[in-house]
Amino acid sequence: MDIVAEWADFISKKGYGMISDEQLSILACPACLGELVRTDNGNSLLCIPCSLSYQVKDGIPVMLPDQAVTIQDQGSGDKNC
Ligand SMILES: [Zn+2]
Repeated sequence: MDIVAEWADFISKKGYGMISDEQLSILACPACLGELVRTDNGNSLLCIPCSLSYQVKDGIPVMLPDQAVTIQDQGSGDKNC
């Protein structure tokens, strides 16, 4: 079964449009199969190793590297000694 369809069904039953922790736990970056991190506003999912941001549209993550946005490492939270 198409996993995107499963998410859509899951979301419609839950009645919210944000990616839940449960959903996040089953999501993986299509490029590296690594874990994804949800952004504060829930509108995108980040893959840190790939520096890619996957957009979430209507609660459905767009897990296409072609559609992902490259994020710049701005060094936030990374303190030099
Ligand atoms: Zn990745």
